[in-house]
Amino acid sequence: MAEFVARPIIGLEIHVQLATRTKMFCGCPLEFGAPPNSRVCPVCGGLPGALPVINRQAFEYAVRTALALNCRIAALTKWDRKSYYYPDLPKNYQISQYDLPLGSDGRFEISAAEVGDAAGAESTSTAGTRAVRIRRAHLEEDAGKNTHEGLDHTRVDLNRAGTPLLEIVTEPDLANADETYAFCVELQRLVRHLGVSEADMQKGHMRFEPNVNVAITFEGREYRTPISEIKNLNSFRHVHDAVAYEIRRQVAAWEADRDYTLDKLGKMNFGWDDVRGVTEFQRGKEEAHDYRYFPDPDLTPVTVDDAWLNELRGGLCELPLTRVSRYVEQHGLSRVDADNLAADRASAELFDAAVAAGADGRTLARQFLSFWAAEANRRQGTIAKLGVDPAHMADLARLVHEGLINATTAAGVASMLIERRQSPTVIVEAEGMLQVRDEGAMERWINEAIAANPKAWADAKGIPKKAQAALGFIRGQVMKLSAGKADPRMVGELLEKKLRE
Ligand SMILES: [Zn+2]
Repeated sequence: MAEFVARPIIGLEIHVQLATRTKMFCGCPLEFGAPPNSRVCPVCGGLPGALPVINRQAFEYAVRTALALNCRIAALTKWDRKSYYYPDLPKNYQISQYDLPLGSDGRFEISAAEVGDAAGAESTSTAGTRAVRIRRAHLEEDAGKNTHEGLDHTRVDLNRAGTPLLEIVTEPDLANADETYAFCVELQRLVRHLGVSEADMQKGHMRFEPNVNVAITFEGREYRTPISEIKNLNSFRHVHDAVAYEIRRQVAAWEADRDYTLDKLGKMNFGWDDVRGVTEFQRGKEEAHDYRYFPDPDLTPVTVDDAWLNELRGGLCELPLTRVSRYVEQHGLSRVDADNLAADRASAELFDAAVAAGADGRTLARQFLSFWAAEANRRQGTIAKLGVDPAHMADLARLVHEGLINATTAAGVASMLIERRQSPTVIVEAEGMLQVRDEGAMERWINEAIAANPKAWADAKGIPKKAQAALGFIRGQVMKLSAGKADPRMVGELLEKKLRE
């Protein structure tokens, strides 16, 4: 068969649960794992006559996120009822925003380093990053939860009903599964940085619905496969795998039948079966008129004034991807290291504070990614939560940078710092940990190590294959004799010199 060119067209709909203390339109607390139906009141329980009240915090979180996504913020937004019947939706409608979303026309940069071939995608590209257009961002409430597993009936838990959700819809600018994956990861990092969501995937705080179809050019004509919406994915890997599968499936379906097109078949909903690794057809997709949207008469529209917007805009932190690029540029770090450093906002701010206090960026980065990260892991927290003074971190980085202590000693000082809250210089002096760079002392240790290990020393001078390991062994013995205080670089240099004698 003749050649054809297939170009995937992918958009995303994402629901992000906002980290408010209470629900979107009532005062019920949001607690994961509370006993079923213990966090329900007349409003979220859908009792007649109960009146909703807007959660100001949720609105602010939503606007903050929309601003970070470079959206236009509507001066007036309203609330609409999306009507449908389902057991976990006690009101028989969901409060959402239909024609006046709070945010629209945004763009979000994702790292181009992580993405595959973006050729043909419709958005612009700048060095190192790639922009994905955001169609809209709006607030709505979540439904409750139905449980079927292992039961001959269904249980309904309304604790989740009324949870504030920010729905974000992108334009179909994503070009493949890798890029879709990268977008989801970057969005998680963004909402965590903004402090608007815990974005805990295990708890279902982020749910993804990719829209996928493929433009196929064949014999001078373009065919478009039907758009599949893959419902309710709750892991990054599922997003990746479902999109990759769906692209392959659609191309194969079109190869088998040239009428497998959007014009003929429209849009369809699919689920993802992760065990079998396939998408499964659910139903044809509803159109907006199926939901009988109309303005909620119980809620007044919200007006947003410029002063408040400017205040929110001014309070936005440096966005994660901007910070990563800055670390690469400013400190000459690799992108992977910069990514790791920027993963947690508070820890990244601590890093910046320590640099401002005089630390060398590269040395400090090494320390953050090695022993500071290890100390944080040991306590199951973040580096910021260790509570170490940035000036002390800067001091520790300086001691290593200036060759006064070695990296191993620094790791020891770090764990003392967490307990003692003293300056590293004081600790190092009090504990006699300063690195020894005195040639006389070093010579003595080296001679002692050689005398005690004549065979290793002979090997070190012998065939290259054995020499390296033998020399490493001798160096280790010297470090041991010095109780870890010898400057390892100097030991290496002196040993090399001795070998040449
Ligand atoms: Zn309630």
